[in-house]
Amino acid sequence: MKTTKNHLNVLIIGGGLAGLSCAIKLSQMGHRVKLWEKDSTIKRKVCGEYLSPLGVECAKALGHEELFSGFEPIYGMNLTAPNNCLIETDFPKSYGLSLNRQEFENRLMAKALSMNIEIIRGEIIKEINPEGNGWIINGHHGDLLIGADGRQSLVAKTLKLQKKSSQKKVALHIYIKRQSDFQRRGEMIILGRAGYIGINPISENEDNLSWVGDQEVFKTWKNKDDLIKEMLKHPRLKKLYGSNPQYGEITSVAKVSQHVSGMVTHNAALIGDAAGFIDPLTGEGMTRAFESTLLLSHALENHQNLALSLKAYQREKKKVTNDKNRLNTIFQFIIKNTAISNFVGFFLAENRRRADIFIGIIGNVYTPLIGLKKMFLDTTPRSSL
Ligand SMILES: Cc1cc2nc3c(=O)[nH]c(=O)nc-3n(C[C@H](O)[C@H](O)[C@H](O)COP(=O)(O)OP(=O)(O)OC[C@H]3O[C@@H](n4cnc5c(N)ncnc54)[C@H](O)[C@@H]3O)c2cc1C
Repeated sequence: MKTTKNHLNVLIIGGGLAGLSCAIKLSQMGHRVKLWEKDSTIKRKVCGEYLSPLGVECAKALGHEELFSGFEPIYGMNLTAPNNCLIETDFPKSYGLSLNRQEFENRLMAKALSMNIEIIRGEIIKEINPEGNGWIINGHHGDLLIGADGRQSLVAKTLKLQKKSSQKKVALHIYIKRQSDFQRRGEMIILGRAGYIGINPISENEDNLSWVGDQEVFKTWKNKDDLIKEMLKHPRLKKLYGSNPQYGEITSVAKVSQHVSGMVTHNAALIGDAAGFIDPLTGEGMTRAFESTLLLSHALENHQNLALSLKAYQREKKKVTNDKNRLNTIFQFIIKNTAISNFVGFFLAENRRRADIFIGIIGNVYTPLIGLKKMFLDTTPRSSL
């Protein structure tokens, strides 16, 4: 059996944040990496571009800090409940980042190319076949296959790891000119059954705004322009963007989740969105892309053979995502229920310490369990959280 101390031939499908980060990390560990990316140039993907505090830490652990220059910090979130109650929060002793994805992915790609990693751009992989103890893609043999091909993952489908999901959501996205005082905080506006809006101050006068809601809600609108126009009448958005908001093209995404039964099979692993993604609500997709790369690379480093490494990767990945996924499911329930959302809003608005802990859980500064303990059992003052 191939040991992970040998240098493996690694085949990666997908050159987004997860795939490129993984290619760089595994190449630094001495493995021979080949990566395929279907797009020949890097586009600005539909994404809130908010990197959570944990995401910042994971990216630093991968050595990406040198690629952060020019990206501004985010110190917290303003939450607006359906009854328009505004809750200002700060991340406890940490910060997130407004990360221009296109720019960042270009920097990652340049780093990978400067390391002579073999990257085949503009080629879409349509078929993956097992061969001996490994895999073969377009005539290239690999000991380890990594699916970093996002929410429509061919690798997850081929390996029969993808699960059907009943969740049908749509996301609309715009860049919009900011007209009010500038704050380095994100915004989350809860609209009850009409979904939610996430905002990230991507530059001094421009915000990145996404609306996410059920397909059923989306279908009640004649078109996406009407929906966005109506959303922009929300009092909080009027305050931020005035009564004549200036925004660019509306882009949309129809698959916002990815459900999997597992993250590994024989000599293959999924990372990033391909390994599972519930909803953009808590803005942690990029965090999971970096985190899964770290977990996989640690597992390969610390176990003697590939089978044990992959088992360890899946165990650790499930550990970090299971609690958060449960919490995300609870949040989904809360935000759809106006009365409960308003109650939670009142509960947080009443006490700034609570609100900061809450946003600490969302930003993965605290695990859900530690956050809840701090909120209800601990008396540490807000300044020492
Ligand atoms: C509306 C919305 C808002 C979001 N906001 C945030 C946010 O604010 N913060 C956050 O952290 N996350 C956010 N996310 C999630 C975030 O965008 C993803 O989690 C992140 O892009 C995952 O990175 P990835 O590398 O796993 O996948 P991707 O970025 O999707 O990369 C996958 C790559 O694989 C390539 N590919 C796919 N199939 C093939 C193939 N067959 N052959 C070759 N190449 C292939 C694709 O071209 C792509 O480049 C949001 C998502 C949505 C939908």
